[in-house]
Amino acid sequence: MKSFGVGSGFGEALLSLLQSRGRVFGPVRGADGICRLGPLSRWSDLCPDPPYLPPKKYLFPPRERLWSLAADEYRRNGRCAEAMALVGLAPCDLRALAYLDRVFADDPHYQERRRRTLLVGTACTPTEECSCLVGDYPPGDIFLAGDRLWCGSAQGEEFAARLLSVLGDEQDRPLPPPEAAGRPASNGRLLAAFGRSAEAPLWARIAKRCLSCGACSAVCPTCTCYDVVDEALPGKAPQRFRTWDNCFFTSFALVAGGHNFRRDRAERLRFRFEHKFFGFGTLRGETSCVGCGRCARACPVGISLEEIRQALLTESPR
Ligand code: SF4
Ligand code: SF4
Repeated sequence: MKSFGVGSGFGEALLSLLQSRGRVFGPVRGADGICRLGPLSRWSDLCPDPPYLPPKKYLFPPRERLWSLAADEYRRNGRCAEAMALVGLAPCDLRALAYLDRVFADDPHYQERRRRTLLVGTACTPTEECSCLVGDYPPGDIFLAGDRLWCGSAQGEEFAARLLSVLGDEQDRPLPPPEAAGRPASNGRLLAAFGRSAEAPLWARIAKRCLSCGACSAVCPTCTCYDVVDEALPGKAPQRFRTWDNCFFTSFALVAGGHNFRRDRAERLRFRFEHKFFGFGTLRGETSCVGCGRCARACPVGISLEEIRQALLTESPR
């Protein structure tokens, strides 16, 4: 993996090169003091705090048109995705995007955008709620930490090569040791405890505080549930949209005939926990929680997956 020492003024040079390629988004603090991902016009505007909503909103937008039908012609949306760069991404958000790459491996809308997106990561300062769980190097095209830059892909190397005029020495210096895992990598004990927990009182006890507001899922960088809605309005071309859905909403598991597979909040809480820690479908067995801490920060009643994890390990009967 190539790495470079970087000199002063490097950030602005990198930004202007990225801007010549397409749009650039990064974490920026708004007038209300909240850090959000948005257009980045100056490198010095980059905010070190984790952005409230994760970068998935650029690759998997909250609402997007999938296709429309006009004059009997079917038109798929999103064929001309613009080139963009997402910069200032923390390692957890880079890992979350690597997970989304797998979830949407066969999704042409996501993949079209992803192919034209350059990911620039930076070292972060963990907050109280963070629980990064993986002790390896974050994926991405370019990664910045201190006075060094690493290239994580051929595209990143090509980009860094164009910046050599402002970079110092090119060296194949060893990377620093990976960050320590904040949580045991093995999920075996947790999975066994979860399997025994269907009737455990912890779900109802914690769910009693839950408001079913869905904030935890909305801010999660790896929550990918969506709904598909067809619109056929008089005088307008029929269109199909995809919108973010939320497993905490009562309507999420409601099916034709009025049956609801997860009518109460305790069931929904347990479902979300299962999804985050053990996955579904082809990704069953994989933890999708990257430990960003957003759900704990966003929850108005202070519920965190870490609280549930601990309760499960200590209370689930053997
Ligand atoms: S479950 Fe919570 S901590 Fe884990 S990735 Fe989602 S928002 Fe972050
Ligand atoms: S953010 Fe908290 S209160 Fe809202 S649905 Fe999630 S766990 Fe429940």
